Amino acid sequence: MRVNRRQFIKVTGAGAACLSLVQLELDLSPVQAYASSLKIEGAKEMYSICPFCSVSCHIISHVKDGKLISTEGDPDYPINQGALCAKGASMLSMTRNEHRLAKPLYRAPGATRWEEKSWDWTLEQIASRVKKVRDKDLILKNDKGQTVNRLESMFFIGTSHADNEECAIAHQLARSLGIVHLDHQART
Ligand code: SF4
Repeated sequence: MRVNRRQFIKVTGAGAACLSLVQLELDLSPVQAYASSLKIEGAKEMYSICPFCSVSCHIISHVKDGKLISTEGDPDYPINQGALCAKGASMLSMTRNEHRLAKPLYRAPGATRWEEKSWDWTLEQIASRVKKVRDKDLILKNDKGQTVNRLESMFFIGTSHADNEECAIAHQLARSLGIVHLDHQART
C-alpha cells in the first residue's frame, strides 16, 4: 500500500502523540471535544485544481451539507507543496462571500449614485456601445493597403477572478472584434 506524506504524518504523528499522552495519564477529552468542533469535522474531502493560472496548483476542498466550507493548498502536490498565491488562497471567498455583487450596477454619466439593473438591460447596453465604437473606429487597412481589421480605440481588461477557460473565450472575443489592446492579471 502506498502511503503519501500527508497520511504518514497523520498516522505517525497521531500515534506518537496518543502513546505519550496516554502514558502520562493525561485527560484527552478536551482535545477530543476540540477536534469534534472543527469546522471540517464530518466534511467530505476532495481534490481540486486552482483555475486562475497555468501553474494549476492543487487544492484540498471540504464540502459539508452540499456547501464548500474550506479550501487549502495540497501539501502532497509537488508543484505548490501546500502553498497558494493570494488568488488561490481566496478560493473560498470566490464561492461564499456576502460582499460579492450579484446584480449589475450602473452609474450614468455625471450621476453620483449607482442603480441596480437587469442583466438583459446591461448586456444590451454593452453590445450596442461596443458596436457603435467599432462601427466608427475599425481600421480596415494600414498605410500600405494591407488588411488589418484593427480597433485601437477600445481597451479590454479581464478580472483577476476569471479562470483560464473564461480568459481564453474573452481573448477570442476581443480579437474577433479587432481589439489589440487587452490585458489580464493572470498571465503565467
Ligand atoms: S493563481 Fe496562484 S494558486 Fe492558482 S494556480 Fe496560479 S499560482 Fe497557483
